[in-house]
Amino acid sequence: MNALPLERDQAIRESYARDASGLWLVPDAVARPTSTDHVTELVRAAARDGFVITPAGAQTSTTGASICDHGIVLSTRAMDKIIDIDVDARRARVQPGLVLGDLQRALQPHGLFFAPDPTSDQECTVGGAIACNASGPRTLQYGATRAHVNALTVVLANGENISVRRQHLEKNTVGNRAIHEPVDWFVGSEGTLGVIVEAELALLPLPVREIGLGIPFPDESAALAFIAAARTSINVAARCLEYFDAASFGIVREQSGASPSDAGWNVVDGATMVYAEQASQDDVIDLDAWIALAEEFGANDGDVRVFEGGAAIREARRLRHAVPSAMHERAAPFLNSGGRRVSTDWAVPYASAARAVAMARQHAKTAGIDPGIIYGHLGNGHPHQNFIARSPAEVQMIEAVVERTLRDVIAMGGTVAAEHGIGKIKSKWLPLQLSAQQISVMRAVRQALDPGGMFAPGNVE
Ligand SMILES: Cc1cc2nc3c(=O)[nH]c(=O)nc-3n(C[C@H](O)[C@H](O)[C@H](O)COP(=O)(O)OP(=O)(O)OC[C@H]3O[C@@H](n4cnc5c(N)ncnc54)[C@H](O)[C@@H]3O)c2cc1C
Repeated sequence: MNALPLERDQAIRESYARDASGLWLVPDAVARPTSTDHVTELVRAAARDGFVITPAGAQTSTTGASICDHGIVLSTRAMDKIIDIDVDARRARVQPGLVLGDLQRALQPHGLFFAPDPTSDQECTVGGAIACNASGPRTLQYGATRAHVNALTVVLANGENISVRRQHLEKNTVGNRAIHEPVDWFVGSEGTLGVIVEAELALLPLPVREIGLGIPFPDESAALAFIAAARTSINVAARCLEYFDAASFGIVREQSGASPSDAGWNVVDGATMVYAEQASQDDVIDLDAWIALAEEFGANDGDVRVFEGGAAIREARRLRHAVPSAMHERAAPFLNSGGRRVSTDWAVPYASAARAVAMARQHAKTAGIDPGIIYGHLGNGHPHQNFIARSPAEVQMIEAVVERTLRDVIAMGGTVAAEHGIGKIKSKWLPLQLSAQQISVMRAVRQALDPGGMFAPGNVE
């Protein structure tokens, strides 16, 4: 391993020991390859010498997926190039360590964008987004990352580089469905099947016009009823429908620097908010239809804040991202004593979202704990409930409440993790959702591609 660029310095190892999960796992070494050849060399040496490797992008994972207390953390941050952009074919080839926000800035002059939009897009990498099948507010319109990945190059555990490309066959009866699109093996694989060293991404034309609306509602049930109605309305076409309960709306208002005399958001205590967006390729967006629909659920025209144009929409995104960021910061003082932010990522079919949120609050109330804040992608039936645990005992108490909620979520036809993945801290909840057969098929795929268990030990296990 000596010929490889491995860092064993304590300070460097510790700087790769933390992601956004609150866990602290110090690896034996850190590798910062600058090329596919470097990655291949490293993987071959690890196979020979029996090292394990955990791939890492920007380490914004909320599940401990990009950190490990043994082996090597392989950071892709130095592999951050755009290889080429084919404007006519609407695709870009990129290295995995490219930050999503940098990709979007490079695409903008070409009138193109990459649809997946995790709110962490100014920090997270393309490789991390692919490996987590990341999604974001606009997933409501465009779908998650998976749908936008054409092809991947991956270094496997045997040191082989494979390139896989979607076939998009309209008809195919050869073999099992699960083996048809190898690209899908790696999207959402959380680093467990290989190191993604290159990706070809499908791009979309930038909308001609886009509008965001921050619409306050008197309470939670009104806001959630509005979201359900907006999803099925033929008068509005939502690109995103994001919910903010009273506490998270408070964070947004604080971050916006709005004073009581500013237009919009002059709301009473307890008000909730829905942030909706619509994008159009032909300049036609019916703002009145949005307001009329919102008023049916008790919203007040004068309280609505409109975000129009690129800069305003970016500001709205900043405010949206401020919510999880603020909770992350609130948890920071408790990390050293074993506390952390506990963030749920469950989702239910959107029509059941209001029932699921009420049930989550009830479980917290029954256990006598603060329900934290609830916000996020309710248009997709996908809220995040964030708690602050100040100690390991509080983590345990909160996770017991979360588990009760997850059991109900599964009974409603939902999922325990909609976009952040399973990583290390949610592995215990896999059996709530997957049968023993499903788990054994998943293990068989891992065994076939990585028989020695080299990649991302502890993730999705
Ligand atoms: C404040 C905040 C807000 C967030 N908002 C969202 C959101 O809106 N939507 C969302 O989906 N997520 C969100 N996340 C979670 C996280 O940002 C995303 O999952 C992101 O895609 C992870 O990218 P990363 O580069 O940080 O990956 P990392 O955290 O470094 O890694 C994540 C996983 O990907 C694997 N991986 C990374 N690179 C590679 C590679 N080249 N090859 C193979 N495996 C690899 C790692 O092993 C790990 O399993 C948020 C996180 C925070 C802290």
